[in-house]
Amino acid sequence: MPEYSTPHDRTMPDDECREVLEDLQAFLDAECVPDLEQSIRIHLRECSPCLNRADFQVELKALIASKCSERAPSGLVEKVLGSLRAASRTSSTGRSDLWSDG
Ligand SMILES: [Zn+2]
Repeated sequence: MPEYSTPHDRTMPDDECREVLEDLQAFLDAECVPDLEQSIRIHLRECSPCLNRADFQVELKALIASKCSERAPSGLVEKVLGSLRAASRTSSTGRSDLWSDG
């Protein structure tokens, strides 16, 4: 038995905490089953270290989401879709025979 590991200075979380942290990602993505979600909620209410980790994960997800939206401008998609719509409209009003030749 390792006598040198003191309960006041442990770096590894409890078994229950470890399970919660493993399921935390799915919990935050709302992908876990209701039973698991309930147990995680109860654990977070009673365990502040895990709650802090959950808070951190939520902030991290928000940060990543904002960074991703910066990288991919939403106007680009609308511009492409708009040009496609305009092209199909002119083809249907004008020389539609080019496209509907079947
Ligand atoms: Zn915990």
